[in-house]
Amino acid sequence: MGRAFLYVILGGGVAAGYAALEFTRRGIGHGELCIISEEPVAPYERPALSKGFLLPEDPARLPSFHTCVGAHEERLTPKWYKEHGIELVLGTRVMSADVRRQTLLTSSGETISYKTLIIATGARALKLEEFGVMGSDAPNVCYLRNLADASRLVNVMQSAAGGKAVVIGGGYIGMECAASLVTNKISVTMVFPEEHIMARLFTPTIAAFYEDYYSSKGVEFIKGTVLSSLETNSLGQVVAVNLKDGRRLPADMVVVGIGIRPNTMLFEGQLTIDEKNGGIKVDAKMQTSNRSVYAVGDVASFPLPLLGSRNRRLEHVDCARKSAIHVVSSIMDPKDTGNFDYLPFFYSRVFTLSWQFYGDNAGEVVHFGDLSSFQGPFGAYWVNGKGQIVGAFLEGGSKDEYEAIARICRVQPVVGDRLDLASRGLEFAVSGDYGPPLSAGDDMGLVVERQLYAWHAAAGVLVAFSISAFAYWYGRRRRRW
Ligand SMILES: Cc1cc2nc3c(=O)[nH]c(=O)nc-3n(C[C@H](O)[C@H](O)[C@H](O)COP(=O)(O)OP(=O)(O)OC[C@H]3O[C@@H](n4cnc5c(N)ncnc54)[C@H](O)[C@@H]3O)c2cc1C
Repeated sequence: MGRAFLYVILGGGVAAGYAALEFTRRGIGHGELCIISEEPVAPYERPALSKGFLLPEDPARLPSFHTCVGAHEERLTPKWYKEHGIELVLGTRVMSADVRRQTLLTSSGETISYKTLIIATGARALKLEEFGVMGSDAPNVCYLRNLADASRLVNVMQSAAGGKAVVIGGGYIGMECAASLVTNKISVTMVFPEEHIMARLFTPTIAAFYEDYYSSKGVEFIKGTVLSSLETNSLGQVVAVNLKDGRRLPADMVVVGIGIRPNTMLFEGQLTIDEKNGGIKVDAKMQTSNRSVYAVGDVASFPLPLLGSRNRRLEHVDCARKSAIHVVSSIMDPKDTGNFDYLPFFYSRVFTLSWQFYGDNAGEVVHFGDLSSFQGPFGAYWVNGKGQIVGAFLEGGSKDEYEAIARICRVQPVVGDRLDLASRGLEFAVSGDYGPPLSAGDDMGLVVERQLYAWHAAAGVLVAFSISAFAYWYGRRRRRW
């Protein structure tokens, strides 16, 4: 015996929070929606965990970063769910799902049934053991996917203050954690097999800028090799990291950021899985191969019209937010809901730097701006085989400039002379004289960060200040998630 709901969201992360808000806006009744989450807290903005949460002073803590503050919307506290009659089943893992019977079996032994299910199970961090290296359970080895990981990381950082950390992995988590460790006065060596950081997105030129910046903060890089073993003391704590190239790195702590895997397990054999992109395959309404089941966020592989409707699975917060809003519209208002026409958008903030990327990083790269200083803005366009701009990256832009690069990736104008594009650089996007402007109502897939408004408004006033004074000011006011 168990409870029955009209709508169940499986997973209580970013997508769940945004879907809940959208359900209430579209008028669901009390007792119709249930969210089941393994985590013991209501949905929160996960990006905060590698940013504001790790600050040494005045760190971000719940309830300050519950969804949906990341998109400047309401903050959905447990009280909010209660007031809206939404059942939060927290600290509860779903152990199995039966999509034919439309039921979920939870770790507490309850069977919860649904009329419509939204799968929002996100992803899990890959463990060292999956690459044949033992030691993930050592007390000073950290991963970062959820609040429990982040709290543990804070404790380990505090015990390792003034010591050395080895960061395994040169992606998002590696870069953001390395910056936080330095801010917490811990020396950092980053180890990764690629030729440069953020190899899936950055060009060698863009990566060189960030690596130089990180080096100026004392971060060391060891590239082209991987971890071979962890050396532990009698307490089981890691004291050194051994690398495949024979080097031994003494360590007071280790942070592992070697990628994620979507949480599809419960549905394998029941729903169509996109083997190539590794997620649950959905259509442009976010509907899976079963009509009662939808999937959103990191776990969903959906068609992207901007890429010729090829399927993609994106591991970024904006996609989780927007796919969640779209799925609720698809479910509650199917006739008036079009296809999910998403413009990929990623961002990161490290130290006093801040970048945004839109579109697709495929094709020829045209860099622009001054990459030789830390003064930005600089960036790059990606131009496809037909000569169209399909992707754009910008570091240190203003709100208008970020909107301009988003717009250009939507319009995808054909560009001729690449040298001219490089020399016009950001001005080309900002001018808007490349093609028909989008109308005001067009959704460009934008989430412009609140601190950028502040940056833009204050920029004119601050020109008289030195760069270091500016960096200090900016660092103090940056949003913390
Ligand atoms: C530390 C960190 C920093 C990030 N920073 C950025 C950033 O700066 N920019 C950016 O674009 N993206 C960033 N991301 C990525 C972004 O947070 C994710 O894309 C987003 O959280 C995906 O949302 P989701 O709802 O699909 O999954 P999640 O937010 O991961 O939520 C999934 C939820 O499902 C639960 N769950 C899974 N399986 C079960 C089960 N069987 N039973 C019950 N519950 C289950 C999980 O416990 C979790 O609560 C970051 C991610 C992390 C981890």
